[in-house]
Amino acid sequence: ENNPILTKKNLFVDHHHGAAVAKQMIGDAFRQRVESVDHESCNPGDEDTFFVGDLGEVYRQHMRWKKNLPRVKPFYAVKCNPDPKVLQLLAGLGTGFDCASKAEIEQVLDMGVDPSRIIYAQPCKTNSYVRFVANQGVKQMTFDNADELRKIARLFPDAELFLRILTDDSSSLCRLSLKFGASLDATDDLLRLAKELGLNVVGVSFHVGSGASDPLAFLKAVQDADVVFKQAYAHGFDMKTLDVGGGFTGDSFETMAHVLREALDQYFPPHINIIAEPGRYYVSSAFTVACSIIARRTIENPITGETSYMVYMNDGIYGNFSCIMYDHQQPVAKILRTGMRTYYDSALSDAVSEDVCAGTEYSIWGPTCDGIDQITKSIRFAQELDVGDWLYFEDMGAYTKCSATMFNGFSNSHDVIYVCSEPGARAILRL
Ligand code: PLP
Repeated sequence: ENNPILTKKNLFVDHHHGAAVAKQMIGDAFRQRVESVDHESCNPGDEDTFFVGDLGEVYRQHMRWKKNLPRVKPFYAVKCNPDPKVLQLLAGLGTGFDCASKAEIEQVLDMGVDPSRIIYAQPCKTNSYVRFVANQGVKQMTFDNADELRKIARLFPDAELFLRILTDDSSSLCRLSLKFGASLDATDDLLRLAKELGLNVVGVSFHVGSGASDPLAFLKAVQDADVVFKQAYAHGFDMKTLDVGGGFTGDSFETMAHVLREALDQYFPPHINIIAEPGRYYVSSAFTVACSIIARRTIENPITGETSYMVYMNDGIYGNFSCIMYDHQQPVAKILRTGMRTYYDSALSDAVSEDVCAGTEYSIWGPTCDGIDQITKSIRFAQELDVGDWLYFEDMGAYTKCSATMFNGFSNSHDVIYVCSEPGARAILRL
């Protein structure tokens, strides 16, 4: 936050203008790459999937955060997308980092980030990792059960602990409270045990579930956190920080932020620090992926006489589209290039409506030999797609590349071409 580059001028962003600049830059990057690949003569790998990442979009999301949640300091959830340039930009912007493992903590520390800007937000930790963070001085960590408290008492008694509580995450895309979080029936006993063990409980944390859609989940969680703060006070703890977790999405951010802001102001006085662990919110819209069509199968309908196609891409659910299985996403294909024409961001790149039944029907499949490796069951395009053509998918920055496997021997380390549509971000990254 004290970065001298963050002058008033750089902090101002015009979202509308920025988005237009981004479209242009992303389009240029796509054009340059796909027009350089000749499927008839290229080497293995040349036609592989690749991302275009706009660091300017991450910057705009940060400014949007600051405007809507000025009291809440974000600790970016590295698991969502540990892209080194994203982390570098966020480090320059002064955010903290939520890490889930030794590797994530190391990645952040290796950038020169102070250990106090990291929270090890995994309530059930590996012993050797706890010893590792104790050595590194990463003190903040979460817990939600008595066994974990005893583990921490043995391995890192000086840790600064956040008691993670259960939330109602029933309206979220990915539910987390099935696995983590102490219920309000258990918190009092946990605080008593922490006191007996001589541990330092400094705050409460919660997570309303990833891809949250009900802003009232934040209100309820803040109210519950208030109850636990009072319990902690009765046990002699002077809690200083509330961690409101992640779950934010770009689509409904202003509404969520409004409810959260009001709840925080109602229940938590200004001397209480508020932090959060947003992941998806920062990166989802910043990355677009381009995939090429590697094979096509023609299907003739014997009754209607209609011709449709199964097209096979070089990326699927075992790759960057793991988000379909793990993150309940439905990425929508658009046409990047067919034949000799590039269509990025033109009306012709979009699918045509199912209602009018215009255009040719396609199903889109991944490259592995598994039958569940399907991206799209049915989509219609006005153009004919064939081998060597390219598709693109927007909003592919969250929980995609990081959970891709190498199943069937396909690569899971695809290129990212970076663009930067905000001058402020370029200044921080010295681009
Ligand atoms: N914090 C914790 C503890 C999480 O488990 C997750 C996601 O699983 C996040 C933060 C990030 O959540 P989101 O990407 O929904 O903001």
